Amino acid sequence: MNCPVCGASSRNRFCPVHERAYQNLLAAYEAWHRALEVSWRDYLERVNANSNSGIWVRDVCVFLLRNGTGDR
Ligand SMILES: [Zn+2]
Repeated sequence: MNCPVCGASSRNRFCPVHERAYQNLLAAYEAWHRALEVSWRDYLERVNANSNSGIWVRDVCVFLLRNGTGDR
């Protein structure tokens, strides 16, 4: 398989760096969701718009936003 974000070959859905970014997104969303009533999609848009977000994380956000919300 190839990472759908960057095209690198991978055994999982994403390559190692994007898989890690995705896991970080999921973990951070759990905390956000408890504090704020924010949907997964709104959350992805906010993270993507935040210039402090890492480039790998933003790559994954853009991918998920373009391809539906993805499974979590
Ligand atoms: Zn990748």
